[in-house]
Amino acid sequence: MSKYIFVSGGVCSSLGKGIAAATIGNLLEGSGLTVNSVKIDPYINVDAGTMNPIQHGEVYVTDDGAETDLDLGNYARFTNSDLSRDNSITTGQVYQEVIRKEREGRFLGRTVQVIPHITDEIKQRIQRIGEREDLDVTIVEIGGTVGDIESVPFIEAARQFIHDFGKPHVLYIHLTLVPTVSMGELKTKPTQHSVKELLEIGIQPDILLCRCEVPLNESLKHKISLFTNVEEEAVISANNVANTIYEIPMSFEKQGLDTIIMKKLDLKPKTHNKAIREWEKMINGYIKADSLIKIGIVGKYVELHDSYKSVFEALVHGGIANKVRVEIIKIDSEKLETGNTEALDEIDGILVPGGFGQRGIEGMICAVQYARTREKPYFGICLGMQMMVIEYARNVAGLNGAHSTECEPNSPHPVISLLEEQENVKTMGGTMRLGANDSKLTKGTKIFEIYGKEKISERHRHRYEFANHYREPLIAAGLTISGTTMDGELVESVEWQNHPWGVGVQFHPEFKSRPDAPHPIFYRFIEECKKNAKKK
Ligand code: GLN
Repeated sequence: MSKYIFVSGGVCSSLGKGIAAATIGNLLEGSGLTVNSVKIDPYINVDAGTMNPIQHGEVYVTDDGAETDLDLGNYARFTNSDLSRDNSITTGQVYQEVIRKEREGRFLGRTVQVIPHITDEIKQRIQRIGEREDLDVTIVEIGGTVGDIESVPFIEAARQFIHDFGKPHVLYIHLTLVPTVSMGELKTKPTQHSVKELLEIGIQPDILLCRCEVPLNESLKHKISLFTNVEEEAVISANNVANTIYEIPMSFEKQGLDTIIMKKLDLKPKTHNKAIREWEKMINGYIKADSLIKIGIVGKYVELHDSYKSVFEALVHGGIANKVRVEIIKIDSEKLETGNTEALDEIDGILVPGGFGQRGIEGMICAVQYARTREKPYFGICLGMQMMVIEYARNVAGLNGAHSTECEPNSPHPVISLLEEQENVKTMGGTMRLGANDSKLTKGTKIFEIYGKEKISERHRHRYEFANHYREPLIAAGLTISGTTMDGELVESVEWQNHPWGVGVQFHPEFKSRPDAPHPIFYRFIEECKKNAKKK
């Protein structure tokens, strides 16, 4: 059985609990321990798949096709956690399962209650991960803020772990806010209140991570320690970092967080060769890079940074490997619909990411046309590939009115359309083409050269497909189909000929990119943008 670390949050949301949990995993892995991470989301949706990205951020897809919270993406970027459907727990899933069991008669004669039935289901789900072989630590991040009505059963289940397993097997880490008020003064009162709230439920935090603008000084750490019964050395300053979130592991390590955790859990580091030094070198190389490129993201969810989280991160990973800093310019595709494309003039490469529905589509098509005709590097992901096909059909192959049936069901040329099997699907949750699929790449294409092999596996999340009926006319007009499913039935990637670099993929490569192992397509896209920037 592994040890358990619960990470809760207080005061307010969006303090970066996911990144804190991921960083803890990163540091423990750096000491040679094996970790796995679980995200608990107290909402009633069964998964994140049906939520609007502007409200909830991107949907992170696992190999086994689960549509999960974006924090799983943080775990994937900071740790080697093996992530699947089991790593994401929601209220919806827990109740669905308990009610299913009740209908089956599994609790016959008994009253089914939040405690113990719901809490037991939660505990079993967490332990399903924690009991995996050779796992040292399971990190469980509890979404939301302590005190929220929805999170009560999860916090209660977390509390029961210390009852069930005792010390030194369970650790509670609480992330709170130490805000700055006028004259730059840091205030500890919200943290004191938040810890009191945890204590009321029966959890004494072992470690506090205090989000603050500037580092906490010793006297503030002393004060927080005095009011919360958390040892002074375990009050950690989670202050803003200067350049990138990838600096956070260094900031925590300098304060000895990894050592404190291991001491409290009675774990010994398995290696003395700290991986964090390699990580630090890699991040310093990026921060100190002397050139900067600008990448324009043309999408419809640009008002929330988290909507395209994995795409933004994968671009930075491409920057780390190419030793060039990446500035992301978010361009609202609807704004391009006026025909004014000035916003695109300054940027070194254009990326159209995934999306759903009709709003903003024509603006994306306009950005694709701009990239193709003005020879700017272009990278289309999922919807971004579909836009590439539509633009080519309309403007090169002469298929007037070409469209996706998602946006225009009566298009005279539905170059992107539903497969027959999707036409009969009536329910929305978990019914898209989801998860890892193998694809076959065509020798001699850009994408084949990027991967350096014929067979690849990438994750999918879409309903619409390149319509096979239009393969012939589009190939005849010069569009390259560079990848298909293994049976050749579905188009997986396309590219432009006689253009410096235009690649579209139906899958989502961004989910598999890491700072220390950038995804090869992102690596090459950034390299091409760098060349383009030099030319200017
Ligand atoms: N809306 C498109 C589809 O369902 C693209 C989806 C996406 O970009 N993830 O096929």
